Amino acid sequence: MPYIADNRPVSIHRAVGCTMLGLLLAGSLLAPPALAAGKAAKPAPATPALVSIAIHGGAGTLSPSEMTPELAARYTAALEQARDAGYAILEKGGPALDAVEAAVRVLEDNELFNAARGAVFDADGRNSLDAAIMDGSTLAAGAVTGVHHVRNPVTLARRVMENSPHVMLSGEGAEEFALEQGLKMEPASYFRTDRRWKQFLDKRGAALGPVANGDPRYFGTVGAVARDSAGHLAAATSTGGMTGKKWGRIGDSPIIGAGTYAEDGACAVSGTGHGEYFIRNVVGYQVCSLVKLKGVSVAEAARIVVQDKLKAQGGEGGIIAMGPNGDWVLEFNSEGMYRAARDSSGRREVAIYR
Ligand code: ASP
Repeated sequence: MPYIADNRPVSIHRAVGCTMLGLLLAGSLLAPPALAAGKAAKPAPATPALVSIAIHGGAGTLSPSEMTPELAARYTAALEQARDAGYAILEKGGPALDAVEAAVRVLEDNELFNAARGAVFDADGRNSLDAAIMDGSTLAAGAVTGVHHVRNPVTLARRVMENSPHVMLSGEGAEEFALEQGLKMEPASYFRTDRRWKQFLDKRGAALGPVANGDPRYFGTVGAVARDSAGHLAAATSTGGMTGKKWGRIGDSPIIGAGTYAEDGACAVSGTGHGEYFIRNVVGYQVCSLVKLKGVSVAEAARIVVQDKLKAQGGEGGIIAMGPNGDWVLEFNSEGMYRAARDSSGRREVAIYR
């Protein structure tokens, strides 16, 4: 049902409109010219701007053979919960920036996903967390890498953006800043799950490349993109990176322009997948640049980058992208990508595999 300002069904609205039109026409024929002109000048009710949100829970999906109906139902419910948390903010006229942060926080708090609680383990057996956020209306951005105790890294990224003169903070310094900002910190045990610990033991000692290639169970990420009622775009991403990562490896998620990017009038992007490929291809910025500079649709830009470019190079993963009008694209070259979206025209979706 298309969205109408007063929420009446379209058919009723149209019927009322026709009656009104008939009365106005009759009135204008009967009334003196000045009065008819005054009535005709009354402005039509404004159509509310479309608000829209899309989220992902990572391209590192379980293989369909491991996915039980119960587990699929848990993933679906979690995706809908995160999507709707962001949508509720947009629906009330709130900013896209608040919506993407809220949606990502819900996913960070859920141990099903590789972000904050439930993150994968690095080579030292720690959960090492990265996140980023970007405001498309100002190009302001914030990012953090290698934090171990911040309950919601996406909120720390936002504080970096808003309360520091920098874009990106790492490790101990980032945690010191988190403490100064009064953010909620957690012991290592909060982030640890048996499932991820088992994956870590299975893969301990393996090099990063083979871990990532061909076995998406060992990665994952969460993210959100949104368009608010003022037409502004925002993007946010949060991840534990890749199982067994070492030497302080940082993926694409916290790198502005690679795994996270937003620019009003172009698009907003959050990526998931083998981060090294996303960094080399500057995925988020490249998609938005195709839209802005070449006039390509967001759907076509996402297809070119994810299918033609990344896939040809062996870069497994996907993106969620949102265009200036709130049209979303959920594009991936992996077996699946946990994803969901919703807009104020009534469109909604949630899915895991192709
Ligand atoms: N892109 C993330 C990274 O490389 C992992 C993922 O999205 O699955 O750290």
